[in-house]
Order: sequence, then structure tokens, then C-alpha cells
Amino acid sequence: MIPRYDPTYTFGDLVRSLRLSRRGTAEKELCGRLRDLYRVKHAFVLDSGRAALFAVLKAHDRPGGVLMPAYTCIVVPEAVRNAGYRPLFADIDGRTLQASGADLARALTQDTTAVLATHLFGVPCDIDGIERLGRDHKLLVIEDAAPALGLESRGRPLRCFGDATVISFDATKVVSGEKGGALLTDDDELAAKIGRLLETAARPRWRWLSFVRAAARKAATRRRLYPLVLAGYRRLGRETMYEVAAPGQDGPKDLLRRASGFSSALALIQLDRLPENLARRRRIAEIYARKLQNLPALRLPAVDPASSASWIQFPVLVDDKRGFYRYMQIRGVDLSWSYRYSCPVTYGLGGFPNALRAAETVLGLPTYPSLTDDEARRIAEIARYYVPA
Ligand SMILES: *Cc1c(COP(=O)(O)O)cnc(C)c1O
Repeated sequence: MIPRYDPTYTFGDLVRSLRLSRRGTAEKELCGRLRDLYRVKHAFVLDSGRAALFAVLKAHDRPGGVLMPAYTCIVVPEAVRNAGYRPLFADIDGRTLQASGADLARALTQDTTAVLATHLFGVPCDIDGIERLGRDHKLLVIEDAAPALGLESRGRPLRCFGDATVISFDATKVVSGEKGGALLTDDDELAAKIGRLLETAARPRWRWLSFVRAAARKAATRRRLYPLVLAGYRRLGRETMYEVAAPGQDGPKDLLRRASGFSSALALIQLDRLPENLARRRRIAEIYARKLQNLPALRLPAVDPASSASWIQFPVLVDDKRGFYRYMQIRGVDLSWSYRYSCPVTYGLGGFPNALRAAETVLGLPTYPSLTDDEARRIAEIARYYVPA
């Protein structure tokens, strides 16, 4: 069975990370590598992408509204609320699945102090439009690049957009750590405040526990073992080990945590392979895009052809999401449920028809680097012959 995700690390990486983390310099080295990669002055590593978002909002210290797309990861509005701000949703464009600067501007209120530029699925968003919106209304522009490490927009070399950039090293993202996130900024004042916040933040200590967890996750994703693991999870009434982002997971105190030395080391080691990692993801996305165009039952979101996405998964829109999921599963392909929790619904809000529709119809095809071309072609072939019941 083809799993929905396969962590990008190898067992060898795990052993090396354990050794490297004993030296105690992994966090510093990872920050240095990220600064070089993004040509940015300040880098911090934290326990998760949401922790990075929480930290930058705390440092911004201007509680009020935060503009964001109504279709995004559910932990994003929760981190915003936990930081003492109010999420302000903007409906997305049904074709791109993203909210442009103009879309976000429509949700603007008097008390708005920040806006998120969200590269959903690792596909570049309307950065120019959102930066303009930020400038015109003096908003802090936070780039939510949690799923978009290494993304390049319109042929410009890799760089941070906006005032701060959030990256995630969750198992499902471009580079899988055991967990983890990073925060990048060129703003000295913001960086000084973030540094002070992190001085007192807790740090996970149990290196061995992280190691065992990461190894178990990797082992469970072996193609032969995976169906058994899935069956086990279902017995426990859960879906899989990878759909972890659900509403109500984080309490405010949980969020400000630094990364463990082990997860910093694990991410650091894999940055050496980032170009190959991204090339594989782009190649797999190309196979899907070519084989799945113009089908009656599957639609593909519009992606700017001039940009290089980092594709944590390849989104397809299917009216009967559950039916398609089962159809693929029976044929040995486990798809991702994507951003399945609708933010407006979770917050009891009406409207946002495009965002609602996206939450109901989007599924993700796998794009992790260990997926072979043959597997990608096989997935596309199976998907092509799907006929809605
Ligand atoms: C995954 C994701 C996050 C959260 O990252 P974590 O490391 O899981 O906290 C935030 N925003 C987007 C768009 C994401 O895909």
C-alpha cells in the first residue's frame, strides 16, 4: 500500500541526529543554515510552526485582528487566538484555493494589526498583493510558509517575504523533523523581542523519546507494514498517525516551546538534500498535472506556472471526497484528507462558500521524495479511471 506520507528522514539520519544532538550545537547550526539559505539576519527554531506563529505575534504585541484565508490549517487561527489576537477570515478563490491580497483586504477591520501570507500545500500565494496590503495599512506581514520550505516565487531566488516567515518541520512537511518549526526575520527589533520570549521557553528533554517516536513513525510507513498500522489505528477509532491537526489541540501554555536538539539535528542533516527533495516533489506534481488534466470527476487547482511550489501534497478537488478516498484506498493508495477542518465552521461562522467547498472537496495525492515515478504514474492512472457512484 502507498502511504499518504513518508517522513523524509532515513533511519541513518535518526542515528546521526542522536549523535549530533549530543554535541549540543545542532540548534545553533540549524539557525545558521536557515539564515544562509534565506539570506536573512535572524533565525529561531521552535517546537512547531504554530509555536513560531505564536511567538512572532507575541513579539509584535499589538493585539487585534489577524487577516488569514478561511481555508487553512486549523491550528493557525487557534495559535492566533492563543496569542491574544482575533482571526479575521477571508474567503478564498475557488480556482486557486488561496486568498489574494484583494480577497484579504475585504476582511480588513479598524483593529487589524497583522496579515498572513499563506502558501497552502506549498504553492506560492499572492505575495505582492499581500505585501502591498500590509504596507498600505501598516500591518505586520507574516509569511505562513509552514508547508513551503524552499518555495520560489516567480523565478526569484529563495527569500523571506513580509516581516517574518514561519516554517514547519512536522512529519508531513517538506523536511520532516520529529516535530519542529522555525521563525525567520530581518527585523532587528522583532528579533530582539522574540529572543527574549524564547529565553524562558521550555525545551523538550527526552532525546530518546523523540528518537523512538520518529523511528516508529518511519517504520510504520514501510509499504508492507502500513496497511496493518492503518487497521490498528482504525480499531482504536482514529484515522491514522498523520492526521494530527484537529481543533482544540493546543492550550495557550503549550505553545511557546523551543525545539529539542534532536529535532534540530534531524532537520539540519536533511537540509543538505533539500534541492533533491524539492526536485522530486516538483517532478511528481508534474506527473499528476499532466495525467490528471481535463477529467470530469477530478479538478486541479490553478497554480501560477512561473513559480516553483514545494508541494507537501498535490491537491485535487472531488465532489464525493469520501467516495474517492475509498475508491483509492481499495486500490492500495492512502490519500491525505488535507486541511479538512473548516475554520469558519469551527468558529461558528456562516458564509465563506469557497472555503467551505474546499474543505469538503479537497484531497491530497502523495508527493514525498521516496515516491517513485512509477508509483506516481500508477496513482494517476488509478485516479483517472475514477467514476463517481
Ligand atoms: C502545517 C501547517 C501549519 C502548522 O505547522 P505545525 O508545525 O504543525 O504547527 C501552519 N500553517 C500551514 C499552512 C500548515 O500547512
